[in-house]
Amino acid sequence: MKLGDQEASGNVEDRRGLRIGGGLGVGGVMIAVVAYFLGFDPSTAINVAEQVTAGRAGQQETREAPKGAPADEMGQFVSKVLGSTEAVWGRIFQQSNSQYVPPTLVLFEGQVRSACGKGQAAMGPFYCPNDAKLYIDLAFFRDLQTRFRAPGDFAQAYVIAHEVGHHVQKLTGKLKQAESAQASVRTELQADCYAGVWGHHAGAMKQLEAGDIAEALNAATAIGDDRLQQQSQGRVVPESFTHGSSEQRVRWFKRGLDSGRPADCDTSSAL
Ligand SMILES: [Zn+2]
Repeated sequence: MKLGDQEASGNVEDRRGLRIGGGLGVGGVMIAVVAYFLGFDPSTAINVAEQVTAGRAGQQETREAPKGAPADEMGQFVSKVLGSTEAVWGRIFQQSNSQYVPPTLVLFEGQVRSACGKGQAAMGPFYCPNDAKLYIDLAFFRDLQTRFRAPGDFAQAYVIAHEVGHHVQKLTGKLKQAESAQASVRTELQADCYAGVWGHHAGAMKQLEAGDIAEALNAATAIGDDRLQQQSQGRVVPESFTHGSSEQRVRWFKRGLDSGRPADCDTSSAL
């Protein structure tokens, strides 16, 4: 991607390096040990202890998280991609006389507290509609490159744009609680199509380079449900739902990419 001229978004919360009680504090360990000797199941006790420490640390975390585009290379990249999605969706919303309220992107490491519950890096990136924030662990980008063999900056941008797609769904009332696997696939494929819509306009803004499209299509293939065995934590986030096959993900992403119009992302009929 060529993001040199793109302004970095300030709607970023950098929670990397902030602990949220992943390790047990001294008090927590004491509870676990005491419970063990009283004959409880120690794993239950550790859960309780984790909640106690996490509750305290959770408040701290919100206070300390720096806001604004981080200075490091990855932080800048993510903030610029987010800035690009803000420019694109801002214009699209304006065309229909509505206002785009951008989401906040939270960078985290390992574990994170969201209004949808505790997020784990193992879940992959996710969007929480309750606080309108996208949660991204940069380790997922490394996974994308190594484990899923989908390298490239546009592959990473596609992942961000997909999560932004869920935010657009929330703003337009299209993000519904999926009652069935079928409904969740519709939601996910529409987010892929919206990611394509962004890609279309990013191309018009001269932000794409040769090979970028192939990177995104490769990523869409790599993270289709038939390829990716999801380890969901049972939280109410769209990412824990099923996403559609590789072929479907590629097809819907391309549809948005070709047309650039969100109206062409109607997944309510044929998938
Ligand atoms: Zn999704």
